[in-house]
Amino acid sequence: MSTGTALADPLFRLGWEEWVALPGLGLPAMKAKVDTGARTSALHAFDIEPFGPASRPRVRFAVHPIPGREDLSIPCSAEIVDRREVTSSNGDSEWRFVIRSEIEVGNRRWPIDLTLTHRGGMAYRMLLGRQALGEDVIVSPVDSFCQPRLSYEVYHTDEVRQVAPARVLRIAVLSREPHTYSTTRLVAEGEARGHVVEVIDTARCYMALDALTPEVHYDGTRLPRYDAIIPRIGASVTSYGTAVIRQFETIGTYCVNGSDGITASRDKLHAHQILARHRIGMPTTAFAASPKDTGNLISLVGGAPLIVKLLESTQGKGVVLAETKKAAESVISAFRGLKASFLVQHFIKEAAGEDIRCLVVGSRVVAAMKRTGAEGDFRSNLHQGGHAVPVRITRDEREMAIRAARAFRLNLAGVDLLRSADGPKVLEVNSSPGLEGIEKATGKNIVGLLYDEIEKRVRPVPVPKARRRK
Ligand code: ADP
Repeated sequence: MSTGTALADPLFRLGWEEWVALPGLGLPAMKAKVDTGARTSALHAFDIEPFGPASRPRVRFAVHPIPGREDLSIPCSAEIVDRREVTSSNGDSEWRFVIRSEIEVGNRRWPIDLTLTHRGGMAYRMLLGRQALGEDVIVSPVDSFCQPRLSYEVYHTDEVRQVAPARVLRIAVLSREPHTYSTTRLVAEGEARGHVVEVIDTARCYMALDALTPEVHYDGTRLPRYDAIIPRIGASVTSYGTAVIRQFETIGTYCVNGSDGITASRDKLHAHQILARHRIGMPTTAFAASPKDTGNLISLVGGAPLIVKLLESTQGKGVVLAETKKAAESVISAFRGLKASFLVQHFIKEAAGEDIRCLVVGSRVVAAMKRTGAEGDFRSNLHQGGHAVPVRITRDEREMAIRAARAFRLNLAGVDLLRSADGPKVLEVNSSPGLEGIEKATGKNIVGLLYDEIEKRVRPVPVPKARRRK
């Protein structure tokens, strides 16, 4: 510490409170209390959770930079440089993580160490201790704001998003299958970008439901806060998997695909209703519960040949082409006999065993491939022996795919289209599209494009100036 001398100019004067910025953490304006009685500087944060490999431990936390505005929270992550036992002014001592960050005050910028502590309700979100103050700093305990003032305005505008630095994200892939191409690619690509990606087995998550603290538990502990969840929910665990996602949504975690969209897209009936509501072209489709209506059902879709689909069909396994009215009636009566739910659909003959898979990430089609069925098969599923090649899609097809993904609010979707005589028809919207076929067919790094989207979406959200009434 320097003592005040006559050399006013080269000295840096601070009052007992100052506006500061921590640009490396995405905190462009905060009021700090300058306290030479304290050795270490401290940042008041919450959800302080260490993560990442032991060789390079990090900590994820969030800060409410505006006192009283808990609706604004800035998520941060930083490397842990130390752990320190700190005794605060009220005599309590606690172990805290220490991080290093640049601080900006007036026209100066320099690195400081900060301990992270969770002490809600403090008027100052930051405490600047003497260790962070250089030799030429003079603290004038009777003055306030000797350095230029900043303002909280940036948190009310989109600027808060723009000043958010690239940071290490903690991401969970919800999947029952850690070894599939899609899961291993999601982990490898995320890690190559410096993020920490954990694979969580959906079926082993369990939940405590109460009004105060929505949580998800796993292996005897509460799951931490993630920056993003990438759901890869298999058809067999849709109901439980979406319940887990809903829990993360309640906590406020960004989920690439939401529970409602996954649920609706999985149920063929519901999915067709949503597509129809959004006026998205699809093959004429009919369903009925009563056997009395079989004849009407068949004529509703224009008669034979027609397609009968089991509602829970995936990979083309429950899709039947009935060439004649007689065949259609017997397939329908067989399905009814098995108490299976199904729908009846106009057969788009001119599609000729081909469909187009459009991969939508965010609000863009990032890749498209044409799948052709095995010789003599009207189904183009790769699982049924089909093969895929990259394809150029038309503007109409592109727009339709984007609208279909948006109708289910999916940020990662495989939209299947058929090319019919009167334009593209959406067949299905898949919320856990396989990534292997499309990456291999098109040679594109689709997972990388997904991470671009995630990195964009996890940035902080500005809050309105006046607090919204609840
Ligand atoms: P799944 O969900 O089991 O894959 P789909 O509805 O995607 O079932 O159908 C599987 C395949 O059958 C499609 O990729 C397409 O090639 C073909 N197909 C399905 N419905 C029709 C239809 N209405 N007209 C023509 N071909 C169809």
